[in-house]
Amino acid sequence: MTKPSPPNSYRTGPDAEGRFGKFGGRFVAETLMPLILALEKEYDAAKKNKDFKAELDHYLKHYVGRPSPLYYAERLTEYCRSKADEATGKAGAKGAKIYFKRDELNHTGAHKINNCMGQILLARRMGKTRIIAETGAGQHGVATATVCARFGLPCIVYMGATDVERQSPNVFRMKLLGAEVIPVTSGRSTLKDAMNEALRDWVTNVDSTFYIIGTAAGPHPYPELVRDFQSVIGEEAKVQMMEAEGRLPDVVMACIGGGSNAIGLFHPFLDDTQVEIIGVEAAGKGVDTDEHAASIAGGRPGVLHGNRTYLLQDDDGQIQEAHSISAGLDYPGIGPEHAWLHETGRVTYDSATDEEALEMFQLCSRLEGIIPALEPSHALARAIDKAQEMDRDQILLLNMCGRGDKDIFSVMDALETR
Ligand SMILES: *Cc1c(COP(=O)(O)O)cnc(C)c1O
Repeated sequence: MTKPSPPNSYRTGPDAEGRFGKFGGRFVAETLMPLILALEKEYDAAKKNKDFKAELDHYLKHYVGRPSPLYYAERLTEYCRSKADEATGKAGAKGAKIYFKRDELNHTGAHKINNCMGQILLARRMGKTRIIAETGAGQHGVATATVCARFGLPCIVYMGATDVERQSPNVFRMKLLGAEVIPVTSGRSTLKDAMNEALRDWVTNVDSTFYIIGTAAGPHPYPELVRDFQSVIGEEAKVQMMEAEGRLPDVVMACIGGGSNAIGLFHPFLDDTQVEIIGVEAAGKGVDTDEHAASIAGGRPGVLHGNRTYLLQDDDGQIQEAHSISAGLDYPGIGPEHAWLHETGRVTYDSATDEEALEMFQLCSRLEGIIPALEPSHALARAIDKAQEMDRDQILLLNMCGRGDKDIFSVMDALETR
């Protein structure tokens, strides 16, 4: 089979139906359609509106703390260079310069607030008075509860009952911020079920409610608007890289749960075809086991949460539970734009295991004084391999999308039991 010829631009999607190639779209109940269409209309108007952009920029700067720095990870670079010297037996040839885009320094400790800020300003524009969200690990719930507190809007967060137990510090954070956390006991009582419950709430409370989705998935226009709000990561990085090095990086990398931090970094680089782009999924205990969260490596196309994309499913098309040591990567699907970028071959999707992420969590802490979240630790695992294959005058940019303070107890447990 021959590959379709590449499009003139990778940045024009989605089309009018919300599709990226055969992925995306809006597979929702008839009752939800008017809501989705109203949101699309409002978003189209907002993105052309100078006041909206100015307001968002204001809060990103003064509340979120943007721009986040671009940082040359010198000791990690040296580490890769000496490993490459050993492996090749040739000194001074291999080992790219590694840079971090430091989105872990944002308020609330990750990239999620970029998107929540954008969506809550949109909700305000639409005159909505009640915010709902769903959360798995609780990170998106915390970011949503944070912006709701800031703007004085009531916040209801649906969370699988299993996750409520597993993630009690985040449940407490959300409550402290004034949110109501509703445990969901249907299905397996995890993220997938919480998302279904949030959609049900939305249909029932049409007039008052705005649903803040936390990753670049869901029915159109969510994948597009989440991508746009997260693209601030890549846009800043491009400018900062020109300042630091006078050119673009050779490789950019990010970890993938639903794919929002990754698409935010990748999207501004998609048409710079000399830049190689790599997304890293969570391989859990291995993509050849039942316990992983790698939807591209181990899934196939289907429909979930309003869009067509790659999903973890069994032979009957039942959605399978995802597994990762990192709760934030524990999603059985991937945003539809990534599914399309995979099929066009523009972006390469790789994976890293729980074990590899644990190693990187410790290595980065020790070498750089930066405790990374377990999520970007997955991307780091593939980044240090990649850097060792690259020449010394090349540049690799990695999105440090979250900090690891939230993970220290699960890492402590994992290190003790192994
Ligand atoms: C939630 C989260 C992720 C996964 O979500 P994406 O939409 O794939 O970005 C990754 N890293 C961190 C730190 C997170 O909190």
